[in-house]
Amino acid sequence: MPTPAYAAPAADQPLAPHTIERRTPGAHDIAIEILYCGVCHSDLHTARNEWGNTIYPSVPGHEIVGTVTAAGKDVKGFKVGDTVGVGCMVDSCGHCASCAEGEEQYCENGFTGTYNGPVFGGENTYGGYSTSIVVDQKFVLRVGHKDHLEAVAPLLCAGITTWSPLRHWNTGPGKKVGVVGLGGLGHMGVKLAHAMGAHVVLFTTSPNKVADGKRLGADAVVISKDAGQMAKHANSFDFILNTVAASHNLDAFLNLLKRDGTLCLVGAPEHPHPSPTVFNLIFKRRQLAGSLIGGIRETQEMLDFCAEHGIVCDIEMIAMRDINTAYERMLRSDVKYRFVIDMATLKKPAVGATPNAV
Ligand code: NAP
Ligand code: ZN
Repeated sequence: MPTPAYAAPAADQPLAPHTIERRTPGAHDIAIEILYCGVCHSDLHTARNEWGNTIYPSVPGHEIVGTVTAAGKDVKGFKVGDTVGVGCMVDSCGHCASCAEGEEQYCENGFTGTYNGPVFGGENTYGGYSTSIVVDQKFVLRVGHKDHLEAVAPLLCAGITTWSPLRHWNTGPGKKVGVVGLGGLGHMGVKLAHAMGAHVVLFTTSPNKVADGKRLGADAVVISKDAGQMAKHANSFDFILNTVAASHNLDAFLNLLKRDGTLCLVGAPEHPHPSPTVFNLIFKRRQLAGSLIGGIRETQEMLDFCAEHGIVCDIEMIAMRDINTAYERMLRSDVKYRFVIDMATLKKPAVGATPNAV
């Protein structure tokens, strides 16, 4: 089925209109009309080949909310008209130890990304910057929110990527939790850690985000470039979630952990961080860790929790043709706090609109 999309033709070229082929839904498949798609920094890393593995043309987008338009004969629990979500994965091997434990993101044979194909190579897949997608029912999520579906879309990546480590490291009442960077992931990290009952401290490089940090749920906000402000929190954190999308000095945050505390990296910058000082790890048995999105079961738990507690993302809606400007603003940390594409603008471009005119 020919499907309108937006694609990066090469690393150094802007995204532009493109037509992709979606498969005809099989017995286990669900066809989804995409209503909204969030814009993750991973989309930008991929479109510009910053991780060195992009297959072109590249159609990014893995924060998808839409409506079921068709369901295969063996599909259970979804019907035409349901509101559903698709996140970062559309398949995995289904039989390795990680898949058996519901941790498909760590599939030992490589999960299939919603875009840019199987993580260990293979045929390309095309993401949510398009009007529709066909996905195996195992990788389709139920959306319990009744309205503001545009603000639900980024939960499918920014939400689960922060939820999973916050749960894994048992953050909650009595825990002092840091979140580094107030972007798409970071603002959900603050909201979710606050909702879990932790004492939350936001670290930002942007003084103009202090008030928003508190509004979103931070008990305190620290300007991370201010050594004096940082020193006041030395040796005091149980857990710090680092969402920064650029290479930076990790020692500044390791030093804030108390004994046995963990600094977890979810940001995946183009260039490596300078190596942290080993003494900062060994003297307090601190741990440096990483975390990748979350499994399907866990993503459903997160969506249900957010629906129950009325949690959505803070978003700025854009038209599909504005994507290249949105990428530039994201690089300047100028987004409050997630761009979401209104996919109706791809189906029906505004009269007189020229693609990539912005
Ligand atoms: P984003 O919206 O661009 O937010 C990143 C934030 O990092 C910025 O808002 C800024 O916050 C801070 N920052 C940016 N440049 C910085 C610098 N040079 N030094 C210090 N802070 C800086 O990006 P995002 O969509 O949240 O994604 C963040 C990273 O996570 C990306 O690398 C993305 O690829 C990765 N990611 C990983 C996973 C995973 O599974 N592990 C999943 C999704 C995304 P302040 O203005 O507050 O300083
Ligand atoms: Zn993402």
